[in-house]
Amino acid sequence: MPEKVVIIGSGPAGWTAAIYAARANLDPLVFAGRPKQMPALVLPGGQLMLTTEVENYPGFPKGITGPELMAALEQQAVRFATRIQTDDGQNPDVSNPDDGHSYKYHDCKHVDLSSRPFKIIGEDDRVIEAHAVIIATGATANWLGLENEMRLARSGGGVSACAVCDGALPIFRGKELAVVGGGDSAIEEATYLTKFASKVYLIHRRDQLRASKIMAQRAADNPKIEILWNKIVIDVLGDEKISALRLRDTQDKKESELPVGGLFLAIGHTPATAFLDGQLELDSKGYIKLTDPYRTATSIEGVFAAGDVVDSVYRQAITAAGMGCKAAIDAERWLADQGIE
Ligand code: NAP
Repeated sequence: MPEKVVIIGSGPAGWTAAIYAARANLDPLVFAGRPKQMPALVLPGGQLMLTTEVENYPGFPKGITGPELMAALEQQAVRFATRIQTDDGQNPDVSNPDDGHSYKYHDCKHVDLSSRPFKIIGEDDRVIEAHAVIIATGATANWLGLENEMRLARSGGGVSACAVCDGALPIFRGKELAVVGGGDSAIEEATYLTKFASKVYLIHRRDQLRASKIMAQRAADNPKIEILWNKIVIDVLGDEKISALRLRDTQDKKESELPVGGLFLAIGHTPATAFLDGQLELDSKGYIKLTDPYRTATSIEGVFAAGDVVDSVYRQAITAAGMGCKAAIDAERWLADQGIE
């Protein structure tokens, strides 16, 4: 028997879709996925697993950490009988973080949306059939693409795309660090790093931040943050560990060297849509296109999408959760129209 609905992704959009689908008796099955960008991190849960304090999710006046929020959403989904695809077919005990269940979370390798029921192929090549699919796979961090940047990132040589995950590591403590980017993430990361670093350089390619005013002010007010305007990183120096950055001024093209003990990239994200192999219509940046901006239907009937994989504008936990809710309701109504309840 095909599943009524399979949800791919386990950020705020995925778990909220699961909560709503489960409460609508759709018996959802979730492919929670494995984190790709941070191999050391074993929990699924999307970008919020890489965030310390979430201060803007309504309902938590004192804030909540990203991992706590995701664990709560997951437990709420499982409370209403959401099933999670795992290596051994057993639903993990999500109320017990020590049972090792997180290692069993399963990736969706591929989907076949060419005919219904749709086919969802797991990392172990098991094929799950589903009448409806909700895609909530989010987006992953971007890198500059420099050879030495990637080499040192892979070897643990002091280059990272997640300050919150790696900033507290001993190699960064008491060092002068650099963050690249001019958006809210760059400022959030730079601010976080000032807890451990002696100084943080924020390297931005323009003379104006993209970040919101409140975040920009936070950077300006922090005596440990120095913004280097109109600079791009053209090389990362160091054999086993990063020792310096080679910078180029975007105005006068002059090059300079900046000694640092760590480099953190905060230059945006790429939507996780490659596994779709072009089966759904995407926009120019690779985000899934919706047929109607107020709904969650995609270019293929029966396939719905929600969260950062769709949204390159708002990209907030609360907007993703809201879209997850909409996707579950859209899927429920569509399934009812098909006579599947
Ligand atoms: P973003 O707003 O897209 O900013 C990316 C930054 O990286 C931009 O400043 C961009 O420069 C720079 N950049 C991109 N490619 C680059 C390259 N190859 N080399 C050098 N610099 C490069 O991304 P984000 O900061 O990750 O934020 C994403 C969304 O999440 C935003 O809507 C943001 O408001 C939200 N967010 C909110 C919070 C919060 O409120 N606490 C925290 C984090 C994120 P240009 O400016 O020149 O394009």
